[in-house]
Amino acid sequence: MHTNKLVVIGAGHVGSYVLADAMKIGLFAEIGVIDILENVAFGEALDQAQATALPYMSNIKVTSGGYEQCVDADVIVVAAGPSVIPDPDDPKAEPDRTLLTTTNCQVIREVMAGIVRHTTEAIVILITNPLDTMVYIAENEFGYPRGRVFGTGTMLDSARLRKVVADACGIDPKSVTGFMMGEHGSTAFPVLSHVNVAGIPFADLGRHFEALGDIRDPETVKARVISAAYDVFNGKGWTNAGIAQSAVTMARAVLLDERSVFPACTTLRGQYGHDGDVALSMPCLLGREGIVKQLPVGLNSWEAEKLAESIAFIQSAMRDAGTGPDKAV
Ligand code: NAD
Repeated sequence: MHTNKLVVIGAGHVGSYVLADAMKIGLFAEIGVIDILENVAFGEALDQAQATALPYMSNIKVTSGGYEQCVDADVIVVAAGPSVIPDPDDPKAEPDRTLLTTTNCQVIREVMAGIVRHTTEAIVILITNPLDTMVYIAENEFGYPRGRVFGTGTMLDSARLRKVVADACGIDPKSVTGFMMGEHGSTAFPVLSHVNVAGIPFADLGRHFEALGDIRDPETVKARVISAAYDVFNGKGWTNAGIAQSAVTMARAVLLDERSVFPACTTLRGQYGHDGDVALSMPCLLGREGIVKQLPVGLNSWEAEKLAESIAFIQSAMRDAGTGPDKAV
């Protein structure tokens, strides 16, 4: 009998938090854990399996092992590979995620090879950085069906954007609609021309919320959202709560075929004048088949300029990873 199954690959700070969140949403009957450190995967799975005996936990079957666990997976979340690390001498440091390119392109090629040995059906959600390059490799080098592998993209960056706007207005961030686009990283930019609160466009928010102050300027909003990530990172040494929640929210949209619109990372197929030469985040419709549709929203001139800068940046990381249109299968 088939049960809803998740596999988490990479059980470090992020993967273990994805596992913990997934244990609590009541959607999965079975969760498999894979890590290159088999003892870590074993320990994480056992820890969660033991917790199922407690009153508020669902009775989920939690296993650890190899890629054979992917054979009947509905969703696979990939958080394998190292993260950048904080500089102990600089509490404001903003290390570039592309420093991870050489290491993590090998990790993602190994992980994708492991997955495709057992399935091309599961929806694969990537978290590993530099995310856009990792998504490009996973999506284009393994013949994985289109739309079934994508990245969390600017899902987390967009949550931070909504929090920045909400805090300036003194309102619930869930009352703010809006998203960041482009790279998951320092060149991500806010699409303020599409931010709104209950349909009130961003440009008109000052009429209703006097405290809006300096966040009227898109460069300021961009800088504040980007630095929000590093405030967490330089504080505790890594980020995991927000990204785990982002991945699990996307997994839920897939499993329940919610047709939610989220900013996911995927290869452009003709949007914004690019066809198969870059992966980045833009609003996408997510359902049981993965990315059902990309929604290329209109951009103003500042946003179009930032998109071009972000694409140039991602493509330079792609070159370092030895990937691009000539590697696509
Ligand atoms: P971590 O070092 O704590 O964990 C990484 C885990 O991956 C480790 O357990 C390690 O043993 C495992 N691993 C390494 N190589 C592997 C392989 N080939 N196969 C299977 N497992 C392997 O790092 P972390 O803080 O959990 O971050 C994980 C990744 O997620 C990093 O690349 C980080 O930059 C990224 N990240 C992305 C976002 C986002 O918004 N996309 C947010 C936070 C972290």
